[in-house]
Amino acid sequence: MKIGVLALQGAVAEHIRSLEAAGAEAVAIKRVEQLDELHGLVIPGGESTTIGKLMRKYEFMDAIRQFSAQGKPLFGTCAGLIVLADRIDGNEEAHLKLMDMTVARNAFGRQRESFETDLDVKGIDEPIRAVFIRAPLIKEVGADVEVLSTYNDEIVTARQGTLLAASYHPELTDDFRLHAYFLEMVKEAAAAKA
Ligand code: GLN
Repeated sequence: MKIGVLALQGAVAEHIRSLEAAGAEAVAIKRVEQLDELHGLVIPGGESTTIGKLMRKYEFMDAIRQFSAQGKPLFGTCAGLIVLADRIDGNEEAHLKLMDMTVARNAFGRQRESFETDLDVKGIDEPIRAVFIRAPLIKEVGADVEVLSTYNDEIVTARQGTLLAASYHPELTDDFRLHAYFLEMVKEAAAAKA
């Protein structure tokens, strides 16, 4: 399976390394034309306002919506989660508006700007190591969204069909099981199309 990492801004190389460790072929994506060759796409962490601006500039908005409409999975981490969301808390305009959830940016406050924890994730046997950096939270989800993990009663991992979202940075540790989970989603989606 070939999985792209949107390479406009943010943690690209780390995702490529984790996807490869999970057994996928991984490529950095800078132009919309490259989407055609992919079975799935990761939208990395970074700064969601910047990523959103660059996505508009390089015409990724509709291209990624079409990619998703073709049944190809998307995985958003941290800022990438914000980019996937239908709604952003406050007055900010949402970006892709693909996943039925409301997110709050920088939701952990100044005291807990960045921290690590072990997180139980539904579908993964043992807890995964999660690195949170100025992380968003999922405040509310629609009926089609499955909550995969919570931290202090707040939603931090969720899935809606072919869409996967995590508040934290699974690519910053040597634990690539969430990438392996996404690779399984990509394989299932490719098999369903075949
Ligand atoms: N705070 C960033 C934002 O709101 C996300 C941080 C991250 O991706 N590590 O876009």
